[in-house]
Amino acid sequence: MISCIYCSTEKFKEGKGSEEHAILSSLGGKKASRNICCQKCNNSLGDDIDKVVSEEFAFISNFANIKTGRKKAPKTIKNAGVMSDLEFELKPGGLPHFSKVKFESNEIDENSVQGSIVARSPEEAIRLVEAFAKKHGKSIDDLKDANIRLVSDYDIPKVHGTLKLGGEPFFRSITKMMLTYLATLCHHSRLRDGSFDEAIAYIKGDSNQELQVTHDYVSEYPKTELDNEISHLIFVFADPKTGVVFCGLRLFGYLQFSAKLTETWSGGEIKKCHQVDPVSGETLDFDLESLPVSINELASNMGNDSEKFEQAINLLMSAVFKGQQKAAIARTTEQAIEEAFAKQNFEDLTEENLGEFVETIVGHVKAQMFRGTVTQEVSIEQLKRMKK
Ligand SMILES: [Zn+2]
Repeated sequence: MISCIYCSTEKFKEGKGSEEHAILSSLGGKKASRNICCQKCNNSLGDDIDKVVSEEFAFISNFANIKTGRKKAPKTIKNAGVMSDLEFELKPGGLPHFSKVKFESNEIDENSVQGSIVARSPEEAIRLVEAFAKKHGKSIDDLKDANIRLVSDYDIPKVHGTLKLGGEPFFRSITKMMLTYLATLCHHSRLRDGSFDEAIAYIKGDSNQELQVTHDYVSEYPKTELDNEISHLIFVFADPKTGVVFCGLRLFGYLQFSAKLTETWSGGEIKKCHQVDPVSGETLDFDLESLPVSINELASNMGNDSEKFEQAINLLMSAVFKGQQKAAIARTTEQAIEEAFAKQNFEDLTEENLGEFVETIVGHVKAQMFRGTVTQEVSIEQLKRMKK
């Protein structure tokens, strides 16, 4: 039996402790160790410190549509903005979604009524048109000759997110990720031989305990080998000669943190790196080259650089928006093709009218890219044929 490194009281069989993720599962991390702590400590540290990190990155996780390591979709962001007088939220992928639908109607004269509907999909619009017809004692088929002007609005207000990336709970969670990664690389007894007591006390929130953990834009980090530029990366150098264990963590491709986890390491040499693409879930593990500087030099020079930090945040934001835009365009194109087919049957497509068909699609993509609208006249039948 081994004991939980955080409470020391709970015991469990080797490999049977609570599943602790090196890079947080909420950020798309997969690598985990079951030789660290008990379920209770995992839960309470999760609530106290890991949640702070997850919430800090909630906006990025949503926009990049990052699945958690447990394959859950990212959280919806509530009250993201207002459009057509309606509040909208952001579904995974930065996808705006109205929390409610809007329905207004006014009688023009005895024989005609005008209605205005804000719906989230043609299906929902059809349902509201049905209700609208019913209210006036008609069925939807009676509206065959009605004029329907369909407006697809892509003029979504800009949504703002903030990133603070600091504070004690944040850095405690960063340190915990590093210690967890180390646990996947060494025998579990190494974490319990006293070398990491300071790191463990710091993670637990012992206010007297300080640890060298910082934003780091000075040390040279390994390259991201995965295709996605917002992949996470974590690496460890453990040096038996100096006793130093240095760990670097790069989140979302740009945000770097380093820590000196101990100076009394008595295990063997470790030079390992783990990477994970939080979008595809692809992972990579490899040995690192030897350092161009001594590990002591690395640990004493690590530190922040406000200019590079700002640059890193800007690069991350532009990568996330770029990814979100590309995904949105792909989705819009797919929907626009469905819509174009709803307006015109496949069998009716000829060389002559193909241009019009393509124009509908291009119109939507353009509007999506440049925050415009697409207005078209459609019949009830065409509206009915339009899928989601
Ligand atoms: Zn415990």
